[in-house]
Amino acid sequence: MTGSGVFAVEYQTSIRALKGVGEKRAQLFEKLGADTVGALLQLYPRQYEDWSQVTRIDAAPFDKNCCIKARPVGEVREHRIRKGMTLYKVTVSDGHSRMRITIFNNKYAAAKLKPGHDFLFFGKAGGNFNGREMTSPMIEEAGTGERIRPIYPQTAGLPSRAIESAVAQALNEMKENLEDPLPEALRQRYSLCHRRFALENIHFPVSREACEIAKKRLVFEELLILQLGMLTLKGRSRELAGCRLTRDTTAAFFSTLPFTPTGAQRRAVAECVADMQKPTPMNRLLQGDVGSGKTAVAAALCHTAAASGMQTAFMAPTEILAGQHYKSLSQMFKTAGIRVALLTGSTKAKEKREIYEALEAGEIDVAVGTHALLTEAVTFRRLGFVITDEQHRFGVAQRAALSQKGDHPHLLVMSATPIPRSLGLIIYGDLDISVLDEMPPGRTPVKTYAVNTSYRERAYHYVKKHLDAGRQGYIVCPLVEEGETDLTSAREYAQKLQNGSFRRYQVGLLHGKLNAREKEETMTRFYNGGIQLLVSTTVVEVGVDVPNAVIMVIENAERFGLSQLHQLRGRVGRGKFQSTCILISDAQNPEAVKRLKVMCETNDGFKIADEDLRLRGPGDFFGHRQHGLPKMKIANIFKDIAVLKEARQAADGVMKADPKLQAPENRLLGEAVRSLFSDIAL
Ligand code: ADP
Ligand code: MG
Repeated sequence: MTGSGVFAVEYQTSIRALKGVGEKRAQLFEKLGADTVGALLQLYPRQYEDWSQVTRIDAAPFDKNCCIKARPVGEVREHRIRKGMTLYKVTVSDGHSRMRITIFNNKYAAAKLKPGHDFLFFGKAGGNFNGREMTSPMIEEAGTGERIRPIYPQTAGLPSRAIESAVAQALNEMKENLEDPLPEALRQRYSLCHRRFALENIHFPVSREACEIAKKRLVFEELLILQLGMLTLKGRSRELAGCRLTRDTTAAFFSTLPFTPTGAQRRAVAECVADMQKPTPMNRLLQGDVGSGKTAVAAALCHTAAASGMQTAFMAPTEILAGQHYKSLSQMFKTAGIRVALLTGSTKAKEKREIYEALEAGEIDVAVGTHALLTEAVTFRRLGFVITDEQHRFGVAQRAALSQKGDHPHLLVMSATPIPRSLGLIIYGDLDISVLDEMPPGRTPVKTYAVNTSYRERAYHYVKKHLDAGRQGYIVCPLVEEGETDLTSAREYAQKLQNGSFRRYQVGLLHGKLNAREKEETMTRFYNGGIQLLVSTTVVEVGVDVPNAVIMVIENAERFGLSQLHQLRGRVGRGKFQSTCILISDAQNPEAVKRLKVMCETNDGFKIADEDLRLRGPGDFFGHRQHGLPKMKIANIFKDIAVLKEARQAADGVMKADPKLQAPENRLLGEAVRSLFSDIAL
């Protein structure tokens, strides 16, 4: 056996088994997620310090860290400048030129610096061309220190160096036990290094190249495990669906609508119907820009599901949106005899009980609602179809929770955020995709203008002109700084408008802190025309549909992501009138200016999504929202697209050969998949 000699260190070994990791340290490691040695080894460096490339003093850059190899040319001098503050100064030479070194209060470091010995000094070399100097550099002995050193994410009380030494110890003691979850054949096919090499070189790279090779391999592994999890989720639905469509009533349903469905809507419906006729459940994403008519697609499917004796659960992220879906469906099903109910957090207790009973008795065909649908009390007689309208607000786990109320029901996920296809494959890797790429006819594209705050009064004036003509409008409030509540600022802003520029008009306010009834009331008043100008925080962003609203002003436009602006703008241009969106911003920086320009130039959600990704970087793409995927340790699902594609292909191969990951060579992969998706109980 290896290592300590007492017992072998393995991935599962507690962090406490390492020398120098006592109770207190262990707790700090656990805070970083490293409770076992295996998890410690996955605490990857945040960045590196390159001590392997030595720079000459006369070539040292002024603006960044470098490593200089030099020897003291005299004794270290001590200067006591005041109580508790001692400076140590020494001059060093690299054989070409000299440099002054200053060390604060570190007697130990100063004592090491014996004349005639070579040392490495790492830091920023200041001074000027007459004389270079380095203040408080990190110091190592030459000969052993020339390497690339890892810098770890730190937590209070646990310096990077402490993590480094724990990792070094773990790697050392585990040598033979660094098993590789990737089967050898797979490693060869994709030219990936062994996990041992990868872990050693991600922490202590022998060279930059080795570090890259290690990183690619670890990213691949993580993405492979993610994809295997997604495919397992998808595969679970290979089991028989509880209900199959026995009829297709979608054409009959379409003929009752006041409009003709677009080709894209028909196509999407046909794809879903085909899925729902199969013995296995549908798992499909319906992606369509705002206003593309997703609701009608969902309604057609609810209709045909009901005709085949299935119940549908239709979940939306907010009460407003659930309410609106409820209203649209009730309207569309008026003559069809399909029974729809609305269930949200604010449904009255008595009514809730009645809905629970009716659902259980099978007397309701479609239950529209929020998270309230997930409560245990909700049981269905024959839940055959689950729809979530989500915009990234639901995680994989919540979708699964709703599905578990039925016997392998069909699943349709609707998303209004057009995400680039490459990303869709990952985030919705467990789903097939239908796209609504065609707008209903007769829409006039929204005209968009970006102006600075000096135009604000003119913008208000323009809004008033529309209100005077009988139209309605939105003003999206300025975003608040962190810490302030958006409530007070939204209220103040609305009041200022009502008492000022919009004195003669009915101004309403919609914000996230209103309770559901208040929101509903406000929206209803706006819908009925009682409110002419709706001041809103971003809650208006989701699906609200008022065709008479033709103008939107967005304050602090630079603070929103492009995709979010696009969502907001989608609230206007929903009727037959020409609509306008005015973006107000004083932002000067070129990137913000560019983003607003993109908004003015295109109404194409996919183009905007691509630009958003390009300009803001992937991390921000979803704002603060969850996309519902497990957290990655080293891979960036947005940047590592190329590796992701390979991992996807590899995952397909693995699953084809061994769908349950039971083969001996896939044992570790199976364990990793289960642990990554542990909250979903694969
Ligand atoms: P979204 O995809 O944003 O959810 P909706 O389903 O809310 O879009 O549809 C937007 C509006 O377009 C609704 O008022 C709806 O009645 C209308 N609509 C949907 N499909 C069509 C169509 N084929 N022709 C005309 N209007 C349509
Ligand atoms: Mg919608």
